[in-house]
Amino acid sequence: MLYANTFAYSKLHANEKFKKGNTNLASKIPLSGVPVSGLEKLLTPLPKYRAKQIFAWINSGISSFELMSNLPRSLRAELDKRFCLRKTSLVSTVEDPVSGAIKLKIGIEGGFIEVVALVDAAGRRTACLSTQLGCGMGCVFCKTGSLGFTRDLDGSEIIEQFYHIQALYPDIANIVFMGMGEPLLNLSGLRQAISVLCETLSPRRITVSTCGITAGINSLADDGPAVRLALSLTSARETLRQKLMPVSAANPLAALKEALLRHQKRHGRRLTLEAVLLGAINTGAEDAAAIAAFSQNLDVVVNLIPWNPVENLYFNGMPLKEPSSAELRRFCAELERHGLKTVMRREKGRGIAGACGQLGGTSAGL
Ligand code: SF4
Repeated sequence: MLYANTFAYSKLHANEKFKKGNTNLASKIPLSGVPVSGLEKLLTPLPKYRAKQIFAWINSGISSFELMSNLPRSLRAELDKRFCLRKTSLVSTVEDPVSGAIKLKIGIEGGFIEVVALVDAAGRRTACLSTQLGCGMGCVFCKTGSLGFTRDLDGSEIIEQFYHIQALYPDIANIVFMGMGEPLLNLSGLRQAISVLCETLSPRRITVSTCGITAGINSLADDGPAVRLALSLTSARETLRQKLMPVSAANPLAALKEALLRHQKRHGRRLTLEAVLLGAINTGAEDAAAIAAFSQNLDVVVNLIPWNPVENLYFNGMPLKEPSSAELRRFCAELERHGLKTVMRREKGRGIAGACGQLGGTSAGL
């Protein structure tokens, strides 16, 4: 597996540094992105319980070895000489006073990423993580898509987003990979981050959202991890979907449906279908009927996401617009008439440009 290779590489280099006593900050190996079993090997000859202690500290979001109060001072100093806790840095945070959502701007090699911690009515927090710097999928309704793709994030850069959020809110209940980038086009980084998250979180509390990468869904179905899956469907009318989400030209609906059936058969998890609702584009009765037809034989819930405004995004030469309340009500009723379960996802994080489809540095607050 790719993850194993990545770790072997890190371990090799860490050992080299260990032997040479190289204390150059830039060359230190980050311990984020390494599960407990990896730490046990990496920190040999330390006893195994030390690896567990160190992992628990890293997972709590602390930013310095010095704070690991149950380790001897000499060990803390030794670790600090040879390793670092993170390779990314928190640049700024901004909070939405209405929803309580918080957006973090994180500096990584070559740029910045944005991640969001959302809060629901019951006060539960969900961390929305990014897997790529930019995104090459070009969905017409998405700010990140308009930026283009720069590079994949590695496992450390992904898990560190969670640690930065944990440092602010140590009670994160759920993780969604729904931030910048397409997670299933970065399977090695995604799997590495999930393997670390699953040391403390059930895979049932982790959701991977895809714009519809058939090969990636099949890979998750066959090789795991058995996390929840969300498909950003938006339209189940093939021609319209191809215009809204260019990725669907190479991932037609029939193949996508087959992959979803395979995933559901293998892991038995209810699937979330997400539909970003664009005013007067995909909210008609025929759109609801197409979603209902696509959902046949799948166990699904449909998340309706009224489009979150982003400037300068167009469809057929016209600026995109939000759906009206009447349009939303009609569409929702139409889906329910077809027997579908629906959830309306209201604009969490919109006030800080941190809602779905808005990530990418547009917020004046950052
Ligand atoms: S919606 Fe997701 S896949 Fe589509 S462009 Fe935006 S980040 Fe990329």
